[in-house]
Parts: sequence; C-alpha cells; structure tokens
Amino acid sequence: MKTFCGRANPTTGAMEWLEEDENYDYHQEIARSRYADMLHDKDRNMKYYQGIRAAVSRVKERGDKAIVLDIGTGTGLLSMMAASAGADFCYAIEVFKPMANAAMKIVEKNGFSDKIKVINKHSTEVTVGPDGDMQCRANILVTELFDTELIGEGALPTYEHAHKYLVQEGCEAVPQRATVYVQLVESKRMWSWNKLFPVHVKAEDGEKIIVSPSEMENCPGVPSVCDIQLNQMPSSDFTILSDVVTMFSVDFSKRVRSASTYYRVQLEPVKSGKAQIVLSWWDIDMDPSGMINCTMAPYWVKSTSAFQWRDHWMQCVYFLPNEEPVLQGEKVHLTACRDEYSVWYKLQKARGDEENKADVRVESPVCRCQAHLLWNRPRFGELNDQNRTRQYIKSLMKVLKTDSICLCISDGSLLPVLAHYLGAKQFFKANHLEDKIKIIEARPELLMSSHLEGKKISVLVGEPFFTTSLLPWHNLYFWYARTAVTSHLTSNVTVLPQSASLHMMIVEFQDLWRIRSPCGTCEGFDVQTMDDMIKNSLNFRESKEAEPHPLWEYPCKSLSDPQEVLTFDFRKTVPQHCLSTEGSVNLLRKGKSHGAVLWMEYHLAADISVSTGLMQISNVKGNCEWNPHCKQAVYFFSSVIESETLSDLPSAVTYAINFNTKTGEIAMDFKL
Ligand code: SAH
Repeated sequence: MKTFCGRANPTTGAMEWLEEDENYDYHQEIARSRYADMLHDKDRNMKYYQGIRAAVSRVKERGDKAIVLDIGTGTGLLSMMAASAGADFCYAIEVFKPMANAAMKIVEKNGFSDKIKVINKHSTEVTVGPDGDMQCRANILVTELFDTELIGEGALPTYEHAHKYLVQEGCEAVPQRATVYVQLVESKRMWSWNKLFPVHVKAEDGEKIIVSPSEMENCPGVPSVCDIQLNQMPSSDFTILSDVVTMFSVDFSKRVRSASTYYRVQLEPVKSGKAQIVLSWWDIDMDPSGMINCTMAPYWVKSTSAFQWRDHWMQCVYFLPNEEPVLQGEKVHLTACRDEYSVWYKLQKARGDEENKADVRVESPVCRCQAHLLWNRPRFGELNDQNRTRQYIKSLMKVLKTDSICLCISDGSLLPVLAHYLGAKQFFKANHLEDKIKIIEARPELLMSSHLEGKKISVLVGEPFFTTSLLPWHNLYFWYARTAVTSHLTSNVTVLPQSASLHMMIVEFQDLWRIRSPCGTCEGFDVQTMDDMIKNSLNFRESKEAEPHPLWEYPCKSLSDPQEVLTFDFRKTVPQHCLSTEGSVNLLRKGKSHGAVLWMEYHLAADISVSTGLMQISNVKGNCEWNPHCKQAVYFFSSVIESETLSDLPSAVTYAINFNTKTGEIAMDFKL
C-alpha cells in the first residue's frame, strides 16, 4: 500500500506530496532506533543479567516456579537471560509489531521457543487466565522501559497496571528500584539555553544594549526535559551549588502509583551563587540489596572506571522557573513535581514548613512569552552567543547604509533589531519595534509590493535559520526564498550572507559509531536478526541518508582535513541545474573511518564567515571542536576501515555529492 503525505520541503519550501510506502515509518523507527545502542551497553546488559539470575534464584530457593513477565521485550534479550538463568516460563510483551516479530525469530534461533512466549500487545491489553495470554500471574517482573528522564516512556502507568493485573503480590522485580538524584548548579552556558541575555551592540553613536522584555525575563519556560551528554560539559562551564541529593525513588516490586505528585528535599548550598539549573540523573538497583547498581551519574560524581558510554540514557538539565540567589549554608527547599510522564522543579527559600507546603502546586509551567515555543534550547544558546552576534554586527555594519531598505528572512531572528540599532532606515520583519520594523505575515513567494509599501529591497539578510531545518543544508531555504523575492530586490541588492559552502571531513568517533554498528552477540545471545533488520531498514531507501547529531556531545577525531565540497551563491538565484562535485580527500591520521561529517559555513560579507560545524581541530591528534549550538550531518559508512599504520590506509576517500536544486536534497556516495 502507498499513502500520500503532504509536507513542506524543508529546503525548497515547496509544498509537496510524497508517496510513502506504508512501511516507511516503521523502517525509519528501526533504522534510527536505540536498540543497537542498548545492545552495545555492556554495563546495562551485564547488570540486568546479574539481577535476573539473582531474582530467579530467590524464587527457586523458595521452592516456587519462576514465572517471568518481561514488559517491552524488544529483541527478547531479558527473557532469554531469564530462561538461561532457569526460569520456568517467560511472557515477553512487545507492543511494536516489527520488534515482536524480531523477538520471535531471535528467541527461536537461540533455542528458547519452549520457554518464552512473545506477545505482540501493549502490556495493558494482556489478559491472564486459562484462555488468556498468560496462564497465571508472574512472580518476576522484568522491564527496561526507562528513558533519560526515567519516566518519559510511560514506565509508571505500565508498572501500575502490571501490579494490579499481571503479577503476584510480593513479586521480584528487576530492576528492584530506581532513584533520581539532583544537584543544584549555576551555569551561564546552560542558562543561556533558557533565557535571552542582553545583547551589546557597538554602533557609531555609542554602545546600545538590547534587553529582553520583562514577560520573557519572568517566563517559567517549558517543562520539556533537556537531555544531554553531560559528560561532555567541562567542569569549568558550571559551578556546583549543592551536594548530590536523592530526590525520589520508586520501588518496582510494590504497587506503583502514577498519579501526579511532588517530592521535596532540603538543600544546604555548599556555595553562594545563583541557582539556575537542576542537573539530574538516575540509577537502578537490580536487586533488593543494592549491590548491582547501574548509574547514569556524570563524571564528577562517579569514578571513571565505572564509566560506560551510552546514548539511550543520558542526563537531564532542568531550568528553574527563575534564577534564585542562594547563600552558602542557608537552607532551601527543592521540589520535584511530576505527572505520569515528566518532571519539573522549583526552588523555595526554607521558611516555615507549613507556609511552604501551601505553595506547592503540581501544575506544569506554561511559557507565557512565546519565546520558549519559538526557540528551542540550542537556538537560545545560539542567539546568546556574543561571538557569533559580533560577526553579524560587523557584517551588517559593512553592508548597511542610512538609506538601506532591508528585508530579513529567518525564523525568530534578532537581525532586524541589530540592524535597527545600527541605523538601518527601514526594516521589514519581526519584533516589537513596530514603527521601525515591519513584520510581514507572508511566505516569501507570496510577498507583494504592497507589503513593502512599494519600495525595493536594497539589503536582504538572513542568518539563515529556520525552525524546520533538521540537516545543515535545509537552511538553504534562504536561497529559495531569496529567489522567490527577486522581483522586489534592487538591481544592486546586497545579500547577507553572500554565499554558503558545504564542508566535509572524514572522522573517527570515540563512541557514536556504536549506535549504527552491528552487535552480533549480546551476553552470549545471538542477536544478528536485529542487526539484519536495522541494516535492511537503513537500506530501505535506495540512497542512504545523513543524520543530524550535535557533535559537541559526541567526540570524534578528524582523519582528513576539512574540505569545502559545494558552494551556493546567494547573490544569484537558485540555478535550474543540479550542483554536483566529485573528488577525493586524503586521510592524514590513522584510525577508523566511521563516516563523514558535513556542515555549512556562511560567508556573511567579505572576510567574515560563521561555521555551523567545525570550529577548530584542537591538536595534532585531530580532536575536533564543534559549534555548540548546531547539529551537524553525519553519514555513517556501511563498512569501517581500520588501520594501525598510515601506510595500510587507502590514502584517500573518494566522494560524489549532488545537490538537486529541484528537490533540495543532497545525495552522497563515498568509496573507501
Ligand atoms: N527489553 C529490551 C528492549 C527495551 S526497549 C532490552 O532491554 O534490550 C523498550 C521496549 O519496550 C520497546 O521495544 C517498546 O516498544 C516496548 N514497550 C514500551 N512500553 C511497553 C508496554 N507498556 N507494553 C509493551 N511493550 C512496551
């Protein structure tokens, strides 16, 4: 079956109808899934296995049959562990059909078909009884339903239901419990993902400061979690204000309640400062004694020997509704509120306890200023990047004249405000400076002369940034928009940026390669079926696609020099013909060529460029520093070449890259 899906093309802006195979979504889900990453997570797998063995033994020691319920079995891994540990029978529940099918195959291949029954249902649909899915209630409950925030994938309602209907009272649970930890910090870097800082503009008539309106200053923001690889955050980028404290824990062997609630702890700041951020992570105990513990604690909390890289569980950054000054030794109350699926925090000065309790409301915060809906966290960070702003100011100063008529094409951009402060006479686009800056509510191709009051545009600017962009080149929408408004431009129009270029580099990832690399066996179980399934889904479309990743979170080293592969001249309109290039890039360092990274650079004006990718290669080893606000495109090679010495390396990787100006798509091919 084919279905037609309508979407705006992120690059060309054109509305298009795509004929999608009905399996497209599921292939996307498999191809981009975290299953491979979980199967590579040795620490997790080992501890689950230990916990499951211990639970099965405890039940057996009591002389009972061990009946396991594995909710969200995925590949069937945890059920196979239980069966090998001597469980009498396992019910393996999986809601996602392709995964349930894979689990059946894997279970069979590993010889457990008589011990494991895979049930393709959501756990809340499972029935118990002589004619039911399960013959009887289970006495061992095994699950792995956690996300970075612990409860975001619905673990609480699933457990609540399972205890009511699917397991015996007093059952064993692996994991036995989860504990959420918090630490209060001050961090200009992280706070810049949540608030707009004053922007300093040095104009000819002195320095001006753009400040955000008070409704934005006081806005509590949005409650959605910000999950990051906190281990990539250098300790110089934040100040610890409190010890690590336990916020709450959930015992999975007892009845679990999912209804909204709150937890509060008293904190004694270890340092005076501005409380802005709550950093949080969790650990799970696989057994009642707590001896088998799997933790997401960041590097400054745990010893490096306990370190396991993983991407399916990271750490959480929560923004307090407002920054609060705290004094060393002066106690404060931190409250975690949660509903079934998410958590948010507030901080209060420790006053009379009764008074404080009355203050606790569990409603989640709502953005009142709109900015938190318009800008995501990296975008806030980008707008707060003073260095970047300086480049734009410098370039605007070069191109703006007192009689310039400007048009800005970018989403939620500060460029119009900057240009206004720099003396542009008239500006069309966003902001509350209504009389000087006019906001046009029209897509570029629908722009009419009347919108511009009959004037012609002499300066066209863009960052460019569009909220619909996922891959770096999607911001080429600026070029298409520029083409659409050509008739409104003066013949000698200045376009800022004047051009963009696509850059490419071959890299070896420290860890990110795991998410797309086959596993073979996992804890002794053959999971190749899963590898094949992922491979099949990745090849579902004829050409493999690049995928976006914020590389500041995923260290890599460059094996080649960065290379400019395509340029896009915004001073001209988008050409009819494709832009293609072929070439080769020399490998300079030994290592594993996991893939190519691609990013855009914008040439704002002569000699002024900004990179949305590589900032610099920091040392002879090739360690890279990436733009901290942008995602880069990663194209994983299907086979990895490894070499110990430079002489065994192929000296170069050849590439062919094609930008189809009609579809806005970039296709690429690499040969090692
Ligand atoms: N247990 C596997 C996979 C964990 S991923 C392992 O540890 O390797 C979690 C899986 O649970 C996903 O495949 C998801 O589709 C499934 N899932 C989540 N909630 C579920 C529920 N309530 N009922 C059935 N399956 C569920």
